[in-house]
Amino acid sequence: MQYQPYCKQEQIRMKTQKPIKKIIKASLFALLLTAGATYAQDTANKEPKYALSNAHSHNDYENDIPFQRAFQKGFGSIEADIFPINNELLVAHSKEHVNPEITLYGTYLKPAIAALQKDPKRKLHLLIDIKENYPVALATLIKQLEPHKNILQTSTHPGQLTITISGSRPKPKDYKNYPDYIYFDGEWPLQHTPEESKHVELVSFPFTNYSKWNGKGRLEHADYTRVKGLIDSVHAEGKKIRFWATPDTKSTWLALMNLHVDLIGTDAIESLGNFIKDLPKNIYINKEIHKTYQPTYQSDGKNGKIKNVILLIGDGMGLTQIYSAFTANQGQLNLFKMRNIGVSVTNAADTYITDSAAGGTAMAGGEKTNNRAIGVDSTEKPLKSLAVYAAEEGKKTAIISVGDLADATPAAFYAHQPDRSMEPQIAQDMHTSGINMFLGSGASNFKKKLNGTTAVELLEKKGYTVTYNFEDFKKSNADKLVGLVADNETRPKIEGRGEFLTEAFLKATQQLAKDPKGLFMMLEGAQIDYGGHRNNLSQVITENLDFDKVIGKALEFADNNGETLIVVTADHETGGLTLLDGDIQSGYVLGEFSTNDHTAVPVPVFAYGPHSDDFRGVYSNADIFKRLLKYIKK
Ligand code: ZN
Ligand code: MG
Repeated sequence: MQYQPYCKQEQIRMKTQKPIKKIIKASLFALLLTAGATYAQDTANKEPKYALSNAHSHNDYENDIPFQRAFQKGFGSIEADIFPINNELLVAHSKEHVNPEITLYGTYLKPAIAALQKDPKRKLHLLIDIKENYPVALATLIKQLEPHKNILQTSTHPGQLTITISGSRPKPKDYKNYPDYIYFDGEWPLQHTPEESKHVELVSFPFTNYSKWNGKGRLEHADYTRVKGLIDSVHAEGKKIRFWATPDTKSTWLALMNLHVDLIGTDAIESLGNFIKDLPKNIYINKEIHKTYQPTYQSDGKNGKIKNVILLIGDGMGLTQIYSAFTANQGQLNLFKMRNIGVSVTNAADTYITDSAAGGTAMAGGEKTNNRAIGVDSTEKPLKSLAVYAAEEGKKTAIISVGDLADATPAAFYAHQPDRSMEPQIAQDMHTSGINMFLGSGASNFKKKLNGTTAVELLEKKGYTVTYNFEDFKKSNADKLVGLVADNETRPKIEGRGEFLTEAFLKATQQLAKDPKGLFMMLEGAQIDYGGHRNNLSQVITENLDFDKVIGKALEFADNNGETLIVVTADHETGGLTLLDGDIQSGYVLGEFSTNDHTAVPVPVFAYGPHSDDFRGVYSNADIFKRLLKYIKK
């Protein structure tokens, strides 16, 4: 069987749906660009707004591929040290390392001008650090630049290439002797005439003069105040600021960004480049805060009767996904109201890292199985699911997903097939399950002919009413009801899905909980996982918040009848998400993904209602089945 790194559903979506991601990206980039232009303003928002134009390749010539590595990565600023020798400008850190082959013109100016001419939208700042004898160096440089004047930035001509001279350089009173396109690294404090000021692009400072910070944790308060004061005064003069000799860590880059430093210097081009490039999709600022429900805890953790069992599975929902949603929702989450908490170890029978098939099967059928297996053990023997046990006990049963019904998680609760890719076969297992209600997308699998019939035909023969959109599903009171909604009705939240999951939960509880024997429901927040696979934090958080709204409704439902056990968990973590920054007050989160796949990290289990204390401890995902079965099977 061919290995598929992504969830089936995810692959289909990538192929068939126009990602709205583009729109979101565009608006975030607009934000970033605005921020770039107004860097001097101190915004109330805590989140860093940076583009690659702010990235500065420090001592760039020390890279294996000078200029190109940083330029191709999109850096807006590149630095070269030069020595004027024999009518040439040689690039090196010290004089004993000069090589007549490595000239400023050949290594930097020529390729930069050629690349900029090819891409008229691109801009570049070249910081030239003259190590000695600036009169000779500048005369040589001007001779080399003069033929390319039209591409050079001046105070009156917007050019693509800005040249700033640092190191050995003339006194401000002599700036006027140089062409407009020669900018200088300003001498602090700036005491310039307006004419001299036109020649100043930025001011550079050694960071170590202001702080001994090693780049771990945060800047000490006194250092922060000192550094911020300096940055603000440079900005007040209308100039850009750059520090050199900064620690080269993510925490430092973030601190400098939060302080609105204009050029972030680095020797780690790949890391800083990726860090800035990914900021738009790694940052989420929540604007839609949902109110949480306050549980009564009257039945929680007591030895009461259990009539209803509700299992809510957030696919790919690890603790970081949850905490990012908590931060985004400004410090409140229905999930965090649940007081009985455990840890589920999710590995599969044959692998350290589970997929949703083995993860779902362990919880539905009580045994760890191989990846890709749906409702069967590792010898392919069928495992009876919690939903089927519940149906046999006379309970009303529902399987709901905001993804495809033949996809692994819901399938593990009604089907028995050796491989998750056998979707038409999985669909055809549905009519044998005895489950009352199904809701999800992926209708095409149910319309495929297999042995001369389709899953829909089999379901209808068994007395199921099959509906094809959410409205019709909600209107039907049929005791055996299948909703195979159009795929766009389960589109991601960030693409405009409405309250599908909450409405589905309410419909199922209203219709099924009337039964004196109660109900069993498995409801899946399927797309937290897709956000993880896409490394899209906005998707992870919006799907998590959507799922949390259902959790609120479930808690309310449990309090209203007092005989409901709720378990909320995940099949695995997706994305290896970590959180690098955040602000609970403003709902800002900065995360970073370490993989586009599932990880082995155990996931939390939250329980509420009678006997919810049974779910404390650290246990196998298959134990969730065992603990729930006690309360389903009399
Ligand atoms: Zn997945
Ligand atoms: Mg799933």
